[in-house]
Amino acid sequence: MSLSVDSAPQACQILSEGNASFARLFDSDAPDDRIISVRELTRGLGHDDRPAHHPFAAVIGCADARVPVELIFSQTVNELFVVRVAGNVLGQEVIGSIDYAVTAIPSVKLVVVLGHSGCGAMHAATGAYLDPTAFVGLAAEHQLRSIVSQLYPSIRLAHSALIETRGPEIEQHPSFAQVLGEVSIVVNAAVMASMMRSELNAYDTEVEARFAIYDLASHCVGIPQRAGQAEAYHGLVPPPVDAAALTALAYDIADGEHVDGLLGRGD
Ligand SMILES: [Zn+2]
Repeated sequence: MSLSVDSAPQACQILSEGNASFARLFDSDAPDDRIISVRELTRGLGHDDRPAHHPFAAVIGCADARVPVELIFSQTVNELFVVRVAGNVLGQEVIGSIDYAVTAIPSVKLVVVLGHSGCGAMHAATGAYLDPTAFVGLAAEHQLRSIVSQLYPSIRLAHSALIETRGPEIEQHPSFAQVLGEVSIVVNAAVMASMMRSELNAYDTEVEARFAIYDLASHCVGIPQRAGQAEAYHGLVPPPVDAAALTALAYDIADGEHVDGLLGRGD
């Protein structure tokens, strides 16, 4: 159950009190694993000393409030370098942030692109893709357009994968827009992770790239059920090695039982 907050001052008060409570954790002796983990930050340091920045992974996630990156990976302070932006797209600022993490923070070993089911940014983009009149509204907002246009290539690939595997009549299905959005979410995370790996290759680093979808229903990360594979949401996945592998992934998702379920033809 989410908090019901009626005004900006009330929101300010909640955040201020929440931070005061968080800061008190560092003085507490309560035997709680999470509290101990937080307190590790300042163990042995003087009152005004700053702990060293020491995350082991960087994560590019969506801004969606239902996907709090540290929480869903059971991590806490100083463990993840997190960049969040609607649709988990790789704009210049995001790439710049990850470049910093990879080049200036030696503890970082992994970069993860994390999409999620039910992504509002992606569903807005697929809605605009399917209804050009909607795009007129989105296009008027330059900042939003920059996100939507980064999502379009993945939507196009998801669209053709659905047509090729399910037949053109799928476009008439009442759930088609939703299905297109959900397949596009997987394709987008894979595309962004592939781009991230290309960035990493330029650095001659051993840092690796992965991607995954966080499923809002099961709370698990991985990729949805694909054609010919029983398992779903089984952890982080290496990005496709080339365009052919990316296309194969899109087709396997489009033809898989996850999409069967969304179309009402599954179990
Ligand atoms: Zn989202």
